[in-house]
Amino acid sequence: MSEPESGVTEVESVDDLDIAPEDGWNALYLDGEWVPAGEREEIPVENPATREPITSVPSGTEADVDEAMAVAERAQDAWAERPPQERAAVVSRACRLIEEYADDLATLFAVECGGVDLKAQFETQLAQGTMEVGAGLAMRDGGRRAESVTPGKENLLVREPAGVVGVITPWNFPLYLSSRVVAPAIALGNGVVLKPDENTPLTGGLVLAALFEAAGLPDGVLNVVPGYGDEIGDHFSAHPTPSVMSFTGSSEVGRRVGERAVGQFTEPALELGGNNAHVVLSDADLERAVDAGAFGSFTHQGQECISINRHLVHESLYDEYVTALADRAGALPIGDPLEEGTLVGPVINESQRDKIVGLIEESVAAGATVEAGGDYDDLFVEPTVLSDVTNEMPVAANEHFGPVAPVIPFETDEEAVRLANDTEYGLSGSVHSTDLSRARDVADAMETGMVHINDQPLNDEPHVAFGGVGASGMGRYNDEWILETLTTVKWISVQREPREYPY
Ligand code: NAD
Repeated sequence: MSEPESGVTEVESVDDLDIAPEDGWNALYLDGEWVPAGEREEIPVENPATREPITSVPSGTEADVDEAMAVAERAQDAWAERPPQERAAVVSRACRLIEEYADDLATLFAVECGGVDLKAQFETQLAQGTMEVGAGLAMRDGGRRAESVTPGKENLLVREPAGVVGVITPWNFPLYLSSRVVAPAIALGNGVVLKPDENTPLTGGLVLAALFEAAGLPDGVLNVVPGYGDEIGDHFSAHPTPSVMSFTGSSEVGRRVGERAVGQFTEPALELGGNNAHVVLSDADLERAVDAGAFGSFTHQGQECISINRHLVHESLYDEYVTALADRAGALPIGDPLEEGTLVGPVINESQRDKIVGLIEESVAAGATVEAGGDYDDLFVEPTVLSDVTNEMPVAANEHFGPVAPVIPFETDEEAVRLANDTEYGLSGSVHSTDLSRARDVADAMETGMVHINDQPLNDEPHVAFGGVGASGMGRYNDEWILETLTTVKWISVQREPREYPY
């Protein structure tokens, strides 16, 4: 492994950071109060780079979920009645506070989820973007008037907040993935209960509570219950109070959450896994395709739903592509995210590492060749490039969620499309060609919610629809699409003239 050049930045205790609550992070955020863990079990939060504990948070119980839902429901009506400018202003203030606490946040991204500085910058920008656009939603789409087939009737379509929104998020981009629901939900007048992932309860949840508290959000509108998914997740997702259940995470858990929510007539919004293909056609600019391929595979150790899971490369470029990608992978500095210059940090925990390494080993046993990496040291998995891969090998057929680039050859554009679509997922993808019309044909044929031509799949813009098809989820996030999800439309008609009834 190549080592970054300079030393590790010293970090004070995360409980003493400026953004931390007065008594540290070991609390739930309920009704505007930081409620200490008390008798509850605690969840230790560990730095994946050093394996040292950084703090603990309470392991929320089903009773905590019930209380949070009741509080959010009570607070919601009054909040929805506040003028939209006021709701927007609170979200805008929380957004500006992200900038003020940028250093604290970068530290937390590093020590809680193994994010290098570059990833901290991406996540900060994404969180701010979603908050800016979210704040603006408070004053958008106030409903409309519609013609009526009945003489003398006026139809009004009035948009109202959904009510209480339940939010369950994962550990990979915790602040952003929570903000992209919480910020628009609050701006639109909803109450929110957020359960962050147990690996990242600070950046996924309690940090947002701190930001919104400092921004002046009234008590009870946002509540954060850290907790283990397998302990309180079922209770949370089948809770009768929320009108919307937003889940970001694996397809397996997402299916379960969706089924339980629908059982309560709660609308599910599901952003799930991906098996994204990076397709390099025979006339691609090889250097651009490799640059994009390396970025799309190794950023944040490949732990994004929209990372490249498979590289599909035309046979005429295959050998050159594999060699160039392996060179890039081997040169990436691996290490503690707090070391300057690090580009590849640790993966989040042992079970993720074992899954990634297992998929590599099984694929090598099935005939794949390791061209770079392939090894690991504790939670540091080397950026790995595999050649001689087929679409059926475990590392290609499954979402590996690691710094792994399996490269698969193909002969024709049609074969590339068939391979790309040969998965239950349909989240993102990319196509490289110097002929934009040819690339467009392939992009059109890819069964995904998002495709990027002459780029890589890792794109998210706060005003553009984000989401997938198939096992990658239901619904779209960002801007007007999340506004649809987080509001409901009510038809109010006014019969201004007496109506003639048939009897
Ligand atoms: P996960 O499904 O294991 O966990 C996600 C969340 O679900 C966590 O908060 C967890 O505590 C909770 N959970 C676990 N069991 C639950 C249950 N029975 N009921 C309710 N909640 C439960 O996912 P993960 O491993 O943390 O995250 C990685 C997955 O998330 C990958 O598949 C990735 O592709 C996906 N993801 C998707 C997007 C997207 O926008 N489509 C974004 C990021 C991650």
